[in-house]
Amino acid sequence: MEEARRQSSDTLVPCPQCDLILSVAPPAPGEWVRCPRCRHPLARHTVNDQTSPALAASALILLAVALAFPYIRFEKNGVSDQMGLLDAATQLAAFHHPALAVVVFATIVVVPACFLVALLWVHASLARATPLAGTAMLVRALPRWRPWMMADVFAIAALVSLIKIAGMAQVTLKPGFWAFSGFALALLVTVQRLHPLALWVRLTGPPQAPPGTRPGLTAGEQGLIGCEQCGQLQPVDGHSHCRRCGGALHPRRPASLQRTWALLIAATLCCFPAHLYPIMTTTSLGNTQPATIISGVLQFLSHGDWPIALIIFSASVLVPFGKIMALAWLCLAVRREAPVDMHAQMRLYRITEWVGRWSMIDVFVVAIVVALVRLGNLMSITPGPGGVAFAAVVVLTMLAAFSFDPRLLWDRQPPSDAPSDPARPATPTLAER
Ligand SMILES: [Zn+2]
Ligand SMILES: [Zn+2]
Repeated sequence: MEEARRQSSDTLVPCPQCDLILSVAPPAPGEWVRCPRCRHPLARHTVNDQTSPALAASALILLAVALAFPYIRFEKNGVSDQMGLLDAATQLAAFHHPALAVVVFATIVVVPACFLVALLWVHASLARATPLAGTAMLVRALPRWRPWMMADVFAIAALVSLIKIAGMAQVTLKPGFWAFSGFALALLVTVQRLHPLALWVRLTGPPQAPPGTRPGLTAGEQGLIGCEQCGQLQPVDGHSHCRRCGGALHPRRPASLQRTWALLIAATLCCFPAHLYPIMTTTSLGNTQPATIISGVLQFLSHGDWPIALIIFSASVLVPFGKIMALAWLCLAVRREAPVDMHAQMRLYRITEWVGRWSMIDVFVVAIVVALVRLGNLMSITPGPGGVAFAAVVVLTMLAAFSFDPRLLWDRQPPSDAPSDPARPATPTLAER
C-alpha cells in the first residue's frame, strides 16, 4: 500500500552531478534520497515547518547585535583598545587594502544578510496564495550564495586570533563576540536546512518530465536537458531558459573545462606572491617583524601551539595546493580513456567543492588582528600584500571548483553503469538516516 502510494507520487528528476534520470519517491521522515550512480544527495524529507524562517530571523537579530556592540577588547601595559565587527573590514581599507576589505565585509555580513532576508521573503511568499515579486529569482540565487557566506570560518578565525595574541596582551571578549558566534551557528543550521528542489516543489508543484522520459538513462542520451536549478527536464529545443524556474539552461556548464583551467592557472600564479610576501607586519616597542604564511605557522609551532599551527598549515598551504592539483586532475580525467574509479573522483570533487572556503581562515585572522592591535609603537599589526594575493587564491580556486561540471566525468561512462532493475529502474536507495 505504502509502496503503491510512493510509486504514484514518484517524480522523474535528473541527477545534477551525473545526469542520470531517477524516479524519486517523496522521502520518509529522516530519510535522504541519494543518486545510486554517483551518491549525490538529491532530496530529503521536508515538512511545511516554520523553523527555517524563525532561525533566519534570529540570525538577522544576532547579526544586528554583533554589529552594534564591541567584538573584542585588547589591553597591554595599561593601554587598551577595542574592535567592533566592522573594524575587521574598515581597518583593512584604512591600510590601503580595499579589495580585501570588500571580501571580508561581503563574506561575513553582506552575503549572509542578503541570504537571510531573501529566505524570509521566499517563506513569506510560500505562505501566500500568489507568490511575491522576485521570489523565483531569489530561490535561484539562494544556493549560489551559500558557499560565499563565511561567518563560521570567521568565528574559527577569531579563536585562532585570540590564541595568537593572548600571549602578547590581555584580551576580553565583548557582547559582539558572543552575538556573532550565535549568528554563525544559526546561519549554519539555516543553510543546512535549505533544499532548493523542495522549495521549487512548494512554489510550482512537482517537476513534470516530457512524455516518454525513461529513468535509468541519462538526460543527454534522451535529448533532454536537466535544469541545474530546479530539476525540471525539458527537450533540447533551443530554449535558453528553464520554463519552470526561468534559470539559464545548458546541457553542460558552458566552457566548463576552459574556465576551470584559466581560473586554476590564475590561482597558481597568485600562490607565489601569497607565500613570498608578508601577510602581516607586527610592530612591538619599535621593533617591526614581517610574517609570511609559513613563518606564521612556524611561530605557532615555536610557542608549542601545534594544533593551531596544524589548522593554519592545512587551511593555508595544504588545502589551496591540494585543491589546485585535485581540480587539474579532474579536468585531465574528463579526457582520459582508461577506466577510472568514478566514486573516488566524485569524492575528490565534492571535497574540493566543500573545503575551499575554509582557506579564508588566515585572511580573517589578519583582518581581526589588524583591527584589534592598534597601540602605535607599543604594539600594532598592519596587513601585508601577501594577504590580498592569498584571498585571490581562495576566491579563484572556489570559482574554479564551481566552473567544473562533474557531469563531464560521467559522459564517458557507459549508461550500463547505472543500476538496472527491470521493474523500477534507477530508483534511488532510500536510506541514510
Ligand atoms: Zn548522480
Ligand atoms: Zn529550472
